[in-house]
This record gives sequence, structure tokens and C-alpha cells, in this order.
Amino acid sequence: MRLTTLLDTLNQGGSGPWPTPTPTATEADTFDQLVATLIPCREHDAELWFAESTADVELAKSLCQECPLREGCLAGAVDREEPWGVWGGEVFVGGVVVPRKRGRGRPRKDESAAPAA
Ligand code: SF4
Repeated sequence: MRLTTLLDTLNQGGSGPWPTPTPTATEADTFDQLVATLIPCREHDAELWFAESTADVELAKSLCQECPLREGCLAGAVDREEPWGVWGGEVFVGGVVVPRKRGRGRPRKDESAAPAA
């Protein structure tokens, strides 16, 4: 089974922890819960994957390295041109992978980046 196929079978009920299965839970609910324990962005606060602080973004990237879905997650994010966030252990800004997320603040002091006069 391709990882993207497994990812597509999971409950897409939003970010954050999934509900704990109840006594009336179906096998699919139980499967979702079991898989969720293996996926760091389901086990931790999902906001970490969309954080502003560099430290939080780096933590999200490192947690992705443990994820069994990393390869498929990254491929899907590239296909969808995700506008931002950490996907598959990479930082996306404007639909493309960037080396690191720049914090807010002054623009870089780079003479070569200045517009031509
Ligand atoms: S690789 Fe994707 S699915 Fe896995 S923790 Fe990172 S963002 Fe979540």
C-alpha cells in the first residue's frame, strides 16, 4: 500500500487530537485512533506545524522525521502547493519548499535583493 493511499483512508476531521473511541466505535474509528498514535501532528498540538516561531517550526520538522507517513505527506504537499506550514518535515511558504521559515521583522539587508534603479 502506498503511503498516500493510507493517508487518504484516514479520518480527515480536522487538526488536533482525534476523539477517543467509544464503546460503540466502529473498527474504522479504532483504526483511525491507532494510526493517530503513530502520527506526530495528531499526537501533538497541530498548531505547532503552523507556528510563527522558528523554534516551534524546527520542532515540528524534527517530529515529522519520526512519522511513517512523511514521504507521502511531503509528496502530497508538493502536489497541492501547500501555501504554508510544515509538511513531511519541510517548510512550505507560498506553495514551495523553503530552507527555513523567516520570522517577522525587517527585510534582509541584502544589496543584491534591492530593485534595480
Ligand atoms: S510527516 Fe506529515 S503527517 Fe507526518 S507528522 Fe509531519 S505533517 Fe504530520
